Amino acid sequence: MNKIVGSNAWANLREEDGLEGGNTFSGRRHTPETIEKMKLAVIKRPPHSTETRNKIAKSKKGQGKGIERLRSQEHQQNLTKSLQGKAPWNVGVNGYKNKSQQLTCPHCDVTGGSGGMKRFHFDFCKNNPNKKTVKKSKQKIVMCPCCGKTGGMTNMKRFHFENCKHQDHNEK
Ligand SMILES: [Zn+2]
Ligand SMILES: [Zn+2]
Repeated sequence: MNKIVGSNAWANLREEDGLEGGNTFSGRRHTPETIEKMKLAVIKRPPHSTETRNKIAKSKKGQGKGIERLRSQEHQQNLTKSLQGKAPWNVGVNGYKNKSQQLTCPHCDVTGGSGGMKRFHFDFCKNNPNKKTVKKSKQKIVMCPCCGKTGGMTNMKRFHFENCKHQDHNEK
């Protein structure tokens, strides 16, 4: 009997701990607050009889299913509505013309959404004899105040400034 009560209380507490962010049991110790909660829970909760536990389990199951069913139905309806309102996303590629602009590259006859096409085709298409190269120097050039080195913002931020090995107060 005692074992069942103990495990029951623990099961409940684990649920609560789970909300606080997962692996509470690896590494981190329980806060005094949590331990206090546990004690209270154990004291306050009388052992459920099998009957009561079955009832609870049933009602919980019923609720869960009910909510799930409602949600999924609602979800389904929303999906249907949205699909009826607009053209389905996957029809636009091969079938009807989608609202989003479809462009065909004159150099390689590839068709696609305007964003990707403009980036990788037309002027930048690999079949374009006058292909333009994307200039990487568009990136902002910055200088590290620690070692005076200059470079692209992304790399410089990663290896310089706070992370610069020439930094005097190098603690990292
Ligand atoms: Zn192309
Ligand atoms: Zn530096």
